[in-house]
Amino acid sequence: MRPTGKLHLGHYTGALENWVAQQNLLNEDGSRAYETCFLIADYHNLTTSLDTGDIYTHTIDMLVDWLAAGVDPEKSPVFRQSQIKEHAELFLIFSMLITSSRLERNPTLKEQVRDLNMDSLVYGHLGYPVLQAADILLYKGNVVPVGEDQIPHVEITREIARKFNNHYTHPVVGDVFPEPEPKITKFSRLVGLDGKAKMSKSLGNTIYLSDAPEEVMKKMRNAVTDTQKVRKNDPGRPEICTVFSYHEKFTAPHQLAGIEEGCRSGSLGCVDCKKLCSENISSELAPLLEKRRHYEANPDLVRNILIEGETRAREIANHTMQEVREAMKLGQKTISSNL
Ligand code: SF4
Repeated sequence: MRPTGKLHLGHYTGALENWVAQQNLLNEDGSRAYETCFLIADYHNLTTSLDTGDIYTHTIDMLVDWLAAGVDPEKSPVFRQSQIKEHAELFLIFSMLITSSRLERNPTLKEQVRDLNMDSLVYGHLGYPVLQAADILLYKGNVVPVGEDQIPHVEITREIARKFNNHYTHPVVGDVFPEPEPKITKFSRLVGLDGKAKMSKSLGNTIYLSDAPEEVMKKMRNAVTDTQKVRKNDPGRPEICTVFSYHEKFTAPHQLAGIEEGCRSGSLGCVDCKKLCSENISSELAPLLEKRRHYEANPDLVRNILIEGETRAREIANHTMQEVREAMKLGQKTISSNL
């Protein structure tokens, strides 16, 4: 995830919930189903703009939200891309394994260029799926949890891994890289408070994970509803209402049916409906707020979590790069595989 500061509900439902579920998933014998690594993609921030603000502060704000939402640094190292030099090194090597025309055909890139109204691309932006390949393969990731729109990127990673393995063989480990599989996550995107397709900081239509209940209530008052429901007793259409889409995510199923019926019949007004929705969101966020307060009161703890995560990540990355160099016959012989 790019470090863009405090996270909002869209990040929570779109990514964090899945990460934490995957981190905590157990096999039948009680062992962990996955080893998980969570990357703070600070280099990626630079691919679309150099005006990134204070990346360090944004990183800490985001990390506190991760921890509050249940990312457990004992189980999952958390680390910054820029602090593990091997990301840049592997990116450079991978850049030799893919053509620029292949990257120009990347459909996600085309969408970004259109959405951001860009008339030209920097070289690093064209190559960001190559950097992502390095991010994944440095840790020999074999499963990548993604939404549908990210599948083309995982495909590029697979192509790069295949090309490397076809070209270079390590005398001890054989193929250095796995070909990672995308794991399509049930990924629920939240619409913004203004009814726009996406909750997004730049659109100013968000509820932050760190918003106190009063703030959630205040923001909810301005949420877009069914414009045909003007008076309390007018019948409404929950299927087109932003607030109802939040209810679907944050309200218990037994309450949901009553809200839908109340909206359609006109027995429920938008003011009461929004109040209930705010309360349900805030009760979901309450444990996160409490954990957030703990981390905010202990900034050294957060810093140490990052440093420890980076130490663990660096060890893995260093080992992979040794294998890469040995397979490619770059540099000196090393002791990693007693060659
Ligand atoms: S009653 Fe609730 S679901 Fe119906 S339009 Fe108003 S806010 Fe939306």
